[in-house]
Amino acid sequence: MKIKFWGVRGSIPTPGKTTVRYGGNTSCIEIETDKGSTIIFDAGSGIRELGFKLLKKMPVSAYIFFSHTHWDHIQGFPFFVPIFIPTSTLKLYAPKPLKESESLESIMKNQMSYQVFPISLDAIQNMNSKIQYNDIIEGKINIPELENEGITILSQYMNHPVVCLGYKIIYDGKTIVYTGDNEPYYNVFDKNLSINKSSGDKAKSVLFDDEEDDVDDKEAENTVEMMNKKFINFIRDCDYLISDSQYTEEEYKTKLGWGHTSIETNISRALEAKVKRLILFHHEPMRGDDALDELIRNHRKSLAGSGNSIELSAAYEGLEITI
Ligand SMILES: [Zn+2]
Ligand SMILES: [Zn+2]
Repeated sequence: MKIKFWGVRGSIPTPGKTTVRYGGNTSCIEIETDKGSTIIFDAGSGIRELGFKLLKKMPVSAYIFFSHTHWDHIQGFPFFVPIFIPTSTLKLYAPKPLKESESLESIMKNQMSYQVFPISLDAIQNMNSKIQYNDIIEGKINIPELENEGITILSQYMNHPVVCLGYKIIYDGKTIVYTGDNEPYYNVFDKNLSINKSSGDKAKSVLFDDEEDDVDDKEAENTVEMMNKKFINFIRDCDYLISDSQYTEEEYKTKLGWGHTSIETNISRALEAKVKRLILFHHEPMRGDDALDELIRNHRKSLAGSGNSIELSAAYEGLEITI
């Protein structure tokens, strides 16, 4: 099984001199199975190049798992050439939304409506009926063709401003987890949070209803602790954890509720869950190659100093890992 990274950036593509080595394309990861099946995680701008690679072996067939529908995870789809080819078979999986208007299919159609893109998704789907949408929920995803290859795929809800799923692939005794976008759960009712102290906006979480404002503090703390433990159990003992690491801990202080995890928290959670290799992903657009190098260098040094054996790296465009 091979993993290849086609886009590793968060939020927005960032081409330019300072991102040449890690790359500027947004989220897209390809997994090529030993039997030659193609599994894709997210369709950020990185999927454009992946499309050209897949065209070399027609007809194209792929399973595309979307963590969520934020722009940086879907924006490459209109430029993924296999969608224009009638022989392609594309099976799309995305979290079941709260409202039908928020489904992946509706959002893709909006993204390819005439006002914002020259070719409508309806026109493409009329000539090519083989784009199939699957709304999924947390748990085991039933895909008999992949199960016949010995591949199990599980999903778990992540903490993000929209419904978001992280995915876990188990194959041949090895486990890979991709978190999508993810922030640790926290108590939104905590009066000491800076966002709650300032007037106006209020901290929010998918854990609690927007209208609720008198949740018992202890009850909220317990729920938060339980959900964070659930995440640790999802990543426990995994061989590869590909994790949203957009911020440093210092940056995170002012980005609470934006749906991302700091590098420091990723490291401590990976250590707690005895993860073997942590691959930082969804890099902050403002962070250039040299700054990322320095962060990795410093964290590796302190990990070595504390005797921890976890392998730490940052994903870059073109990185290939054979499992
Ligand atoms: Zn994102
Ligand atoms: Zn997001």
